[in-house]
Amino acid sequence: MKYVFLVGDGMADYPVGELGGRTPLEAAATPNMDSIVRLGRIGRVLTVPAGLPPGSDVANLSLLGYDAAANFEGRGPIEAASIGVELDAADTAFRCNVVTLRDGLMDDYSAGHIGSEDSRPMITEIQAALGTKTVKFVPGISYRHLTIIRDFPRGLACTPPHDISGQPWEPHLPKGPGQEIILDLMERARPILARSESNKRRIAAGKKPATDIWPWGQGRAMKLLTLQDRYGLTGSVISAVDLVRGLGVLAGLKVRLVPGATGYLGTNYAGKVAAAREALLNEDFVYLHVEAPDETGHEGDVHKKIQAIEEFDKHIVGEILALRAEIPDLRILVVPDHETPVSTKTHAGGPVPYAVCGPHVVPGAAAAYTEKEAAWAPVEPAVDLFERFIRGSW
Ligand SMILES: [Zn+2]
Repeated sequence: MKYVFLVGDGMADYPVGELGGRTPLEAAATPNMDSIVRLGRIGRVLTVPAGLPPGSDVANLSLLGYDAAANFEGRGPIEAASIGVELDAADTAFRCNVVTLRDGLMDDYSAGHIGSEDSRPMITEIQAALGTKTVKFVPGISYRHLTIIRDFPRGLACTPPHDISGQPWEPHLPKGPGQEIILDLMERARPILARSESNKRRIAAGKKPATDIWPWGQGRAMKLLTLQDRYGLTGSVISAVDLVRGLGVLAGLKVRLVPGATGYLGTNYAGKVAAAREALLNEDFVYLHVEAPDETGHEGDVHKKIQAIEEFDKHIVGEILALRAEIPDLRILVVPDHETPVSTKTHAGGPVPYAVCGPHVVPGAAAAYTEKEAAWAPVEPAVDLFERFIRGSW
């Protein structure tokens, strides 16, 4: 048997007044996801274990069948894996955003979605000035970089900068063990950024400068049993998002990069499907992730979210269903990692609907892929769902 997970990030939602009380999944035309439900089953899965934040990190880790409560360390070490940085057991990796702080407010958590060509020289300059035997700055992509600190204490509380957009930043500075180390790095990075040529160019071009660094999402190195260790499976991850690729790396999956994958509407869907086909012909498992439904949920734009869901249904789910002509023993599962309701513009951690079809899945009575159709189903923990997907039946 071959296995494919199709993850529509943040697809699940709440009833929307503007849609007459329907959710975006109900309002969208999704003939292919509906057909998976008719060919197989609909169910409900809890991807965010109680007590954990409903981040894509925790949710995708759970979907891959790992107990997030036991294994999740933080976003930093996952992103380190995605860019090939090996962490030592004594290392703590922080995600380090470059941000725009203005008039005491978090003006922009992404410094205007700064390009790597502008941000990487800045991180290199910061590393040259502030790097030591125990502190290292590693450039990543766009506004997303890493700060790695040796022997950093556990227990520091940091705030994700995207959670405080437009709010005063000072009350949200890191608090707890090691705070003085981080505050000192932030203070000392500020003048380096201010005199960086990249920032001077950005200001001259009317773009937002990266005024500060903002470390968060820290954790120690994560070591996971790979899918090869757990199930003897080979496989690939296909995603525009470095976080999801990092989880794939930690799970022992091959990263298949797709040119033109944007993480937004109109991404290179055909390229993603071609990469999935190539992987499924040669390997056992594919984790194909599409980011656009989540992004449009964060924007609070219900029509764009419906468009994102319809594009996912047509260009990903439909094309993967068509692959069964070539790969008949293909088990397919469609699922969001978490809810991103357009009404709240942020993640929520309730149970989400999944649809599964393929060998040893006996069709049920449901006919459409919606939250409402799934509501009768018992809630399964994601770790159980993955196990069942690989070894079980419906
Ligand atoms: Zn997500």
